[in-house]
Amino acid sequence: MKLLNYDDILELLKRGAVVEAQEQFTALHGAATLRQLQISARSDQVHSHSMTTGLVQDGQLKSDGIAYYRVDNGKKTGPYCQRCYDAESRLEKMRAMDAATYLCCACKTQCPRNLCG
Ligand SMILES: [Zn+2]
Repeated sequence: MKLLNYDDILELLKRGAVVEAQEQFTALHGAATLRQLQISARSDQVHSHSMTTGLVQDGQLKSDGIAYYRVDNGKKTGPYCQRCYDAESRLEKMRAMDAATYLCCACKTQCPRNLCG
């Protein structure tokens, strides 16, 4: 299958070829994901190099399976919304909604406070 670009896919949609456009988009998105993986594989090598110079920027984000936490100089901050980070690579700090619940203001994900951190 020939890989189209976004403009071609939009053109397909305009012509009503929704299924074909969908397939093309999936193919394109898959290719983009693969490229991103290749880029992050390269930046991993950069990180392991910078670790030896003491400049660790990544690997600071920890997950407890429900939310993410940042650890800066041994200090834990968070929780950060797992959904926003996984889906959009966005660090969204969760707020205490009540005594028992944290809430992400961006996507409204809730997590029980007794399970977070
Ligand atoms: Zn969120």
